[in-house]
Amino acid sequence: MVILKKMVVLLLSLAVIITMSMGFGLISEVHAADTMTSNNNTTTVSNVSATSSVAASRAKFKTIKVKWDAVDDADGYVVTATQKGKSTKISQVVTDTDADYSNLSNNSQYKFSVKAYVSADGTEKYSSAKSTDYIVSGYLKTTAKTSKSVSLKWSAIADTTNYSVVVMNKNGKTLKTKAAKTNKTKVTGLKADTKYKFKVVATKSTSETTTSTTVTTTTNSDYIWPSASRQILSGYGYRSGYGSSYHEGIDIGTGYGAKAKAIKSGTVILAKYYFGYGKCVEVSHGNGVVSLYAHLSSIKVHKGQRVSQGQMVGRTGATGSATCAHLHFSMMVHGNMVNPLNYLP
Ligand SMILES: [Zn+2]
Repeated sequence: MVILKKMVVLLLSLAVIITMSMGFGLISEVHAADTMTSNNNTTTVSNVSATSSVAASRAKFKTIKVKWDAVDDADGYVVTATQKGKSTKISQVVTDTDADYSNLSNNSQYKFSVKAYVSADGTEKYSSAKSTDYIVSGYLKTTAKTSKSVSLKWSAIADTTNYSVVVMNKNGKTLKTKAAKTNKTKVTGLKADTKYKFKVVATKSTSETTTSTTVTTTTNSDYIWPSASRQILSGYGYRSGYGSSYHEGIDIGTGYGAKAKAIKSGTVILAKYYFGYGKCVEVSHGNGVVSLYAHLSSIKVHKGQRVSQGQMVGRTGATGSATCAHLHFSMMVHGNMVNPLNYLP
């Protein structure tokens, strides 16, 4: 009985071997995937990964490199980039086990799939495709907007045809002058947290001039960045990768577990899982200014708590609607979303 069972097993094994041999004999007739399965136990392309890096020659664009493990007997690979929410696909055929994409849209998400092929009898047979998750193709802003402005207003002088504002550094050295038609103006392009002196010169139609006393002001440095990283993965406003969706904040490339810091002292007004924002903290800074920190992996404050500038409100993550760990940061002024880059130093 035991011997008989062994024979049955042996016969079954032989049957399997025979079937496999027949498979080998029909390589040109079967799918490439089947051929590859027989040879190296790989049903499909494996370990497909996509990483982005800044291309030195194109400062604001990212190159995404796609890599995968070699498949035995493959004559080549077809790599396809698919933009999230779009049907357009960008494919390339390569013989190596990596491919570069450097012409992708800004501020978009792409996933990359790879399939292997063998050429036989003039036709190509493909393995099934293996895909990555979506990855952000955003651009890197090397410098944040640092420009600050100072609004000036003075008493109007009768018969004045022209005012000019003299902008000086703290030592009284003239940096520039700006003409003004009325008794107020806004001087822009100033550095944050810097002391400036301003003087107004009024010229009457009679060429008589009147000079104001000098006023000294230190420009606004109210806020600090919410993260050590200043890498912008996705900017504020409409973004191409999401149909017509409006991005109400900036995505900062912080990676996972980085500190999310209060940009200014204030009171925590929200600290909980909040829809697509995932674990989310909102801090009210007074004067109608509210900052928001989203997709956190952990929240370190509670509603009603006073926080100081720079205090950690949570750690970055990918909770809620996020495909990779980053810090989504928003700012509101009197209930309206604003571009944080116009406020951060
Ligand atoms: Zn975001």
